[in-house]
Amino acid sequence: MTITDHFLDDVNQDLLPATRPMDVRRALVIHFTGGATGASSIESMRDNHLSAHVMIERDGTVTQCVAFNRVASHAGVSRWRDPNTGNLFDGLNACSIGIEIANAGNDEGALKWARRQPGFASIRARHRKGGPEQEWESYPEAQRAGVFEIAQVLVETYHLDDITGHDCIAPERKDDPGPAFPMLELREACGFSGLPVVHNR
Ligand SMILES: [Zn+2]
Repeated sequence: MTITDHFLDDVNQDLLPATRPMDVRRALVIHFTGGATGASSIESMRDNHLSAHVMIERDGTVTQCVAFNRVASHAGVSRWRDPNTGNLFDGLNACSIGIEIANAGNDEGALKWARRQPGFASIRARHRKGGPEQEWESYPEAQRAGVFEIAQVLVETYHLDDITGHDCIAPERKDDPGPAFPMLELREACGFSGLPVVHNR
């Protein structure tokens, strides 16, 4: 996997509006869509004036929606302290790359759809934030492999300081990517250690 002019080579593109340049790229933020197919979630982002840089389908198919040097709208109200510089960022859109993973998460409506799909698997777990034990859709191997490959090339290309989850930069309102996602393994594969810091409001 390689990047040319802030686009992954040889992947699908379905561009979403993103006009502001992003001058500082510091972190990678991992999300689940809480939805059905990635394509349907791209349409939903388009309708709701949201965006992420990349969408990864359950079979590992990658679609890039925003150039990596443009600000996407995936993080919302959020915060993060750069582990390398100690700088506190208020709002992660301005300094992060967002990867959306097609996954129902703990969304009951999306789980209802996902359970009917071939190869569906899930776990029961409590979120690291606490709360009740819930069902979470598992991330298929091909999809995990796609996420790992893209994360590695992004960290390397843009010298990112951290990989975190939406649930760590906005824990008061977000559960993604949740306990079914191999966050520790991804971070270790990209040269980081331990789980991401949770930035409470
Ligand atoms: Zn999210």
